[in-house]
Amino acid sequence: MTSLLQVRDASKSFGGVVANKGISLDVASGEIVGLIGPNGSGKTTLFNSIAGTHPIDAGSIRFAGEEISNLRVPQIARRGLLRTFQQTRIYGRMTCMQNMAISAPHRDGGFAAIFRRFGPETTERAESLLEFVGLYQKRKLRGGELSFGQQKLLEFAMALMNQPKMLLLDEPTAGINPTLINGLLDRLRRANEELGITLLVIEHNMRVMMNLASRIYCLAHGELLAEGAPSDIQNDQRVIDAYLGAH
Ligand code: ADP
Ligand code: MG
Repeated sequence: MTSLLQVRDASKSFGGVVANKGISLDVASGEIVGLIGPNGSGKTTLFNSIAGTHPIDAGSIRFAGEEISNLRVPQIARRGLLRTFQQTRIYGRMTCMQNMAISAPHRDGGFAAIFRRFGPETTERAESLLEFVGLYQKRKLRGGELSFGQQKLLEFAMALMNQPKMLLLDEPTAGINPTLINGLLDRLRRANEELGITLLVIEHNMRVMMNLASRIYCLAHGELLAEGAPSDIQNDQRVIDAYLGAH
């Protein structure tokens, strides 16, 4: 397997807290891979390390064959690897279209983009992606006027503005009602199949994982506990114990 994302022995501590310890994982181009683990097991920390929010203390992170562990968020984003957040980060006072415009690639966008007229190409791409996630009719509404689930869809569309090769999604279904969850999962699958975007997804809902991921990694106490097909992971006694022990 040639990996699009290859993490080797990645470790990260915060003061005395070892958040990630010697983690290795691989995601092949075109895959949808899950990342699970009890609260505090280090999932978000690993995403932050991969996406460039903070450097790792030791180990290696390669994306498309290139070492990226020494790069920062904008440089990694430019290479086609982006993350979304557990807490939605949209601008409530801006319209959906404005949110989309400021999400256009860092090199020609950033905050300055909202003070300019959108280029026709940006407008077209923003509209087509809002259509893709089912928000085209709401494109002129402010972000804050959307339901929480719709905000998640907007955030996903904003990430797609960058035409990523790979997305790291941190609990995309958290707080969304079951009806919208199915819609979101459908969009994630279509982004994978039709846009060719590789996905690494943090998700607690095992039913969601079974439907989405071809492989799952499970973290516990900052370390990799298990890796396998969803059906194997679901029945893995170590995984079950880790979740039971966490409550
Ligand atoms: P998860 O996403 O699996 O719930 P996190 O990666 O958020 O877990 O947290 C793992 C551990 O690292 C926790 O003990 C958390 O308190 C700690 N941690 C995470 N980020 C920071 C930070 N920026 N500063 C200090 N401690 C942190
Ligand atoms: Mg987290």
